[in-house]
Amino acid sequence: MSRIDKLNKKLAALDPSFSARDERGCTVLTGESGEWSKIVAAGKLAVDKKHSLGVVNRIKLKGFEQRVPEPAVRDKAYDGTAPDVLVIGGGIVGCAAARTLRRYDLSVMLVERGYDVALGGSSRNGGVVHVGINYSPRAQKHIYNNRGNAMYEGLCRDLGVPFEQKGQVLLIGKRWETILCAVLRLNAKRLHIPGVKFMKREQLVSVEPHIPEWIYGGLYMPTGGITSPYQMTVALAENAVTNGAQICLDTAVEGMRVEEGKIREVFTNRGIIRPKLVINAAGVYSDVIADMAGDRTFTVHPRKGTDIILDKKKGYMVRTSMAKSPTTVPPPLAGEEEMHAGGLKAVVKALHSHTKGIASIHTADGNMIIGPDALEVPDREDTATTAESMDSIFEAQARISEGAGRGDVIAYFAGVRAPTYEEDFVVRKGIFTENILEAAGIQSPGITAAPAIAEDLAKWAAEYIGRSRRVERNAKFDPVRPKKPVLRELSDEERARLIAENPDYGEMICRCEEVSKGEILDALRSPLPVYTVDAVKRRVRPGMGRCQGGFCSPLVVKIIAEERGVSSEEVTKGNLRSRILYGDTKGKEE
Ligand SMILES: Cc1cc2nc3c(=O)[nH]c(=O)nc-3n(C[C@H](O)[C@H](O)[C@H](O)COP(=O)(O)OP(=O)(O)OC[C@H]3O[C@@H](n4cnc5c(N)ncnc54)[C@H](O)[C@@H]3O)c2cc1C
Repeated sequence: MSRIDKLNKKLAALDPSFSARDERGCTVLTGESGEWSKIVAAGKLAVDKKHSLGVVNRIKLKGFEQRVPEPAVRDKAYDGTAPDVLVIGGGIVGCAAARTLRRYDLSVMLVERGYDVALGGSSRNGGVVHVGINYSPRAQKHIYNNRGNAMYEGLCRDLGVPFEQKGQVLLIGKRWETILCAVLRLNAKRLHIPGVKFMKREQLVSVEPHIPEWIYGGLYMPTGGITSPYQMTVALAENAVTNGAQICLDTAVEGMRVEEGKIREVFTNRGIIRPKLVINAAGVYSDVIADMAGDRTFTVHPRKGTDIILDKKKGYMVRTSMAKSPTTVPPPLAGEEEMHAGGLKAVVKALHSHTKGIASIHTADGNMIIGPDALEVPDREDTATTAESMDSIFEAQARISEGAGRGDVIAYFAGVRAPTYEEDFVVRKGIFTENILEAAGIQSPGITAAPAIAEDLAKWAAEYIGRSRRVERNAKFDPVRPKKPVLRELSDEERARLIAENPDYGEMICRCEEVSKGEILDALRSPLPVYTVDAVKRRVRPGMGRCQGGFCSPLVVKIIAEERGVSSEEVTKGNLRSRILYGDTKGKEE
């Protein structure tokens, strides 16, 4: 019986309409079902890394049509442009690629469908710079995570982005669970991850002083870090622009003309672009873009995760990114029955898990985040938060960060990961289409891996364009993005000096996060200015604090309106349709 026959037998048991065939070396699935879980299960069944390039799951979910936000503008602004490299997607991967491409004398254009960069997964995550201890040595996730992790400190220094490297901790409750720690330590050695060690509770409290009494110990992994993922994405984009890349916002790729294995034209809502090479960094839509380009060998099955942000006053409770092992069951509370761990089975399951589990994370801005969970969803745009997710996250974490409760929550959000069924990144040169590079299926640890992925993409792009003309290194490339003043980081003397030089730094706009008018103006006068309330929030944090913008939002609107020379009614929260003000409620004084 052939591989496909065997698979078809299994698929038919799942749903009689499901079937598989081999097409160009990929396993293509077709059929129809009313249950998303069955469609995902079929995709997982079809994985065969040895004999297939990947799973292309075309099984339809009955009654579901992916809604894609209609572009806010339609014009010919970029019609006829012909860059060397067109990057699709303004997440961390696309922005890192655009910047790194400018290390070579290549003309670079990045198109992003949204009104800003960092609107997809790159702004909806915990910002952990991962250690990557449970990957297989052959996985792209491992290779890029290791390289990316090592690049972070220098990159954050160059770009003026927050970075702390206080480690990651995996907590265990019982002595027998040290088996898992021992296996993970061996894996760390195999993966060349330095410094990983087991610590008993007495030692571990020097790293995490607020762990609960019942914790036996934990695996301490010193190379774990934390950054601000959206600030990093914005910084990469700004530095790319400073170095000559063109970033085109509100620009969506809607189709391509591919002839003789080459992308000839890329259709957007702002005209036709004719690039020599395309980089696919479109996040949860990376399989859709690969399809347009005729280069698809994989499928993204969206996996939603919710994170909960707690007030800064609870920030002291965690210094690292700390999670309990999936094998760990906290002792019962009064009146509860004792739960039993799954023993060795649970250890094996933990080692094969594709998500890192729910953690307490110390953020780069001093808050505590708890989350994320992991839910398979059909809708790539599903960033709705639900009471069920919140409850399950609180339940999972309540016994780790005892003393943090629902009253400490200041915000919550959901993001959508972009896993393939193979659960690995797809970073490669085009297989069926000559002039495309794929940076697809970049689920976690994509924040960590992005700088390393960008290095390879830029190198391959220079080689490809180098086939038709000489490509030199760009001697003028400047990796440094000068850091603008951040008032809350300054001493009283430094603040006084700054305010004397420029009184705008003395006008406090956001009291929770201590953000001055001067800092907001700096953001609006940056190399990639975006004149919306949320864009300012992502850059310099007004509205990120306890009151969530209740006090400062009207002031931010006023500053943006003055800076642009428009009325307050024209200032939006996010995209052009997200109006905040419609007019006066009381008559204006004559
Ligand atoms: C809940 C959650 C927690 C996570 N935690 C971590 C973590 O702690 N550490 C870590 O390393 N990673 C983490 N990740 C993973 C990380 O966020 C992603 O891997 C990373 O952000 C992916 O970046 P990207 O640039 O590939 O995609 P995105 O950031 O999604 O960017 C893709 C962009 O492409 C644009 N686009 C799509 N289609 C088109 C089109 N047709 N035309 C133009 N533009 C288009 C989109 O608008 C989007 O802006 C987490 C992810 C989630 C969801």
